[in-house]
Amino acid sequence: MQTDISPIIDFWKMPALNIWQKDNLQISHSGDVIRDIRLKLVVDDKRLLPAWKDEAETDIFFPEVCTEQLKGDVLAHFRLKDKSWPAVVLRGEKVFLNFDPFKTVDYLINEKYFDIKKPFLSYLPCHYHFVPGYLRFRILRYIVSLNKNKIEKDIFPNWYIEGTVEFLRALLLNLQYITKGQELAHMPFWPENKKFALCLTHDVDSMEGFKNIETFARLESEQGVASAFNIVFHNKKNGGLLADLGREGFEIGLHGDNHDAKLAFLKEAVIEKRLSRCLSFIDEFSIKGFRSPFLLKTQGLFNVLDKFFQYDSSVPDTEFVPGIINPRGCCCVFPYRIGRLLEIPITVPQDGVLLAMGYSEEEILSIWQKKLSWLKKVGGLAVVNTHPERYFSGNEDMLGIYRELLRSIKDDRDCWIALPRDVAAHWKKREDCEDYTAGKM
Ligand SMILES: [Zn+2]
Repeated sequence: MQTDISPIIDFWKMPALNIWQKDNLQISHSGDVIRDIRLKLVVDDKRLLPAWKDEAETDIFFPEVCTEQLKGDVLAHFRLKDKSWPAVVLRGEKVFLNFDPFKTVDYLINEKYFDIKKPFLSYLPCHYHFVPGYLRFRILRYIVSLNKNKIEKDIFPNWYIEGTVEFLRALLLNLQYITKGQELAHMPFWPENKKFALCLTHDVDSMEGFKNIETFARLESEQGVASAFNIVFHNKKNGGLLADLGREGFEIGLHGDNHDAKLAFLKEAVIEKRLSRCLSFIDEFSIKGFRSPFLLKTQGLFNVLDKFFQYDSSVPDTEFVPGIINPRGCCCVFPYRIGRLLEIPITVPQDGVLLAMGYSEEEILSIWQKKLSWLKKVGGLAVVNTHPERYFSGNEDMLGIYRELLRSIKDDRDCWIALPRDVAAHWKKREDCEDYTAGKM
């Protein structure tokens, strides 16, 4: 009945959880097993809920659950239509679960519930940039408008605040507290006792976007912050500008060799060959991170990225573009490892997605601020991604709300504003640190 201790919990840096799990946590393998199932987990004992969550119900996609009629005090139960059965049961000092929280976290953060498909664009015989950007954006908006009713539907992951992985972490901590009567020591997530962290990033998809880089850099410098510009290798025309950015404390990342939506689906050897062409560029600008065009990912791509970069930042915590991209995401708002590669998820809805959904600038700012306020409560990492093209954020109205966002965040003393490469370095240091109880780094 014992489950293997999962390396997944390393990303929370809570070794005490391992020790507790061995003695006190039993995962059931009896009764019928239901696989790949979306269920409501309903908390009966409010002590299991994290401080940021009021609702007793959480919608979760599970890799598998058991249907054993566990005996004891039911702290939480599953609900599927009119059926319900125990999910978490307390018997003496022991906790019995009809699901494996570690397997579930692994299933969610690796998006195993979601099949990423080759997009239509990747089948085109020519590069999709032959269609002008503003026209592509109009087509995108039209397709989304035809499918917008799907936003109202009950979807998983929740859009645009998805806290399942954090809920499971809190559930384990709270269970430990209930049985042991003491809190688990854990390593603080961010330096200098900051409550949450923020990275600003830009994906520069086209030459048109490249021309607007300076506008964004200037605006950010005025606010006393810096960002990472993810550059498509083929668009790199003005190395002087990028060198200047580097000197001024901005980060340069790689956004593919070109932006053709094919890279992730190629054979590993071909991906490697294409990325190898960018090596001198990677060297010249000390590039540490990668952002996949269209956020398309495959295990093959990750296997190759590991050879070139310290981190990847191509997975949203939750994303949905009705009619274009089905709901997806890692449901997690902290960095985590995919093999040796560190993943820094994008956790604030992207400008292009919100604009395609037809939100006004005011509504977009409000969504960004709501998400930031939730991330602060959870203590997670906010990763903002905007595009400098005119039809995305490179226009007066969008720049206006972006400036507003920076103003609201830059004076927040609880926020660690950092470049993604600094977050990657910090996370590595945190992983290597043994003295997790003292909270020192
Ligand atoms: Zn892009």
